[in-house]
Amino acid sequence: MEIRFLGVRGSCPVSGARFKKYGGNTTSILINSSNTSLVIDAGTGITKLAERENFRENVVFLFTHYHLDHILGLPFAFLLYSEGYRRKMYGPDFGNFSVREALDVLSNPRLLPFKVSEKMLETHLFPVSEKFEVENFRVLSLYSRNHPLDGIMLYRIEAEGKSVGIATDYEVGEDLPQVVEFFSGVDLLIHDAQYTEEEYRERKGYGHSTEIMAAEMAVKTGAKRLVLFHFDPFHTDSEVDLQQLRAARLFPATAAAREGMSIKL
Ligand SMILES: [Zn+2]
Ligand SMILES: [Zn+2]
Repeated sequence: MEIRFLGVRGSCPVSGARFKKYGGNTTSILINSSNTSLVIDAGTGITKLAERENFRENVVFLFTHYHLDHILGLPFAFLLYSEGYRRKMYGPDFGNFSVREALDVLSNPRLLPFKVSEKMLETHLFPVSEKFEVENFRVLSLYSRNHPLDGIMLYRIEAEGKSVGIATDYEVGEDLPQVVEFFSGVDLLIHDAQYTEEEYRERKGYGHSTEIMAAEMAVKTGAKRLVLFHFDPFHTDSEVDLQQLRAARLFPATAAAREGMSIKL
């Protein structure tokens, strides 16, 4: 399985020389295995690095939640509008808000001049369950309340005998024991690192973690590798470099996610 980072930024996209190394697009991760591309969230990253040759014939979107930085690229994702792909879309059902409602919001004619759902070629929508299979991927989900309003879905994705844990927009909290168990022994852990420890003191309860929390999670779960992810839009390349160094002191196999970076497991 191959994991490719399309967008690594949280909150809002940024651009400019100070963000060149890690990139400024918001959250989107592509995981390829066999004839299937699994796309975790559709932030603006999906629009910039979505070259056709990167995608397989089955395209499966899987959403962690529906904050704007995770869906903003969706109206501009060519994969929804082009022939030749079999499409599925999975997203959590937060009571009265699911993928369908997220698409409705994006289709508000005052926000966008076209209706996303009308332009989408046949795409099947599904709610996320605790454990399900999509093509050759096995997906396990764990709901956490530790993100504003609706909470967040954490995913453990398995294919080809390897596993990836995804904990974006997750703030380490009282559910730590369950989360540690859920991610136990993953080959790769992709974890929220929006804040530095200093910033976190002012932003506790905002639904994000620090690079130190991410490194501690990697140690506790026995993950083989850690990728820091969902960087604050105000963190320049040198700030992210420092976050990576600080995390690596606790967990040496730590990298910081970079747009275009790809990892083969
Ligand atoms: Zn986010
Ligand atoms: Zn969020």
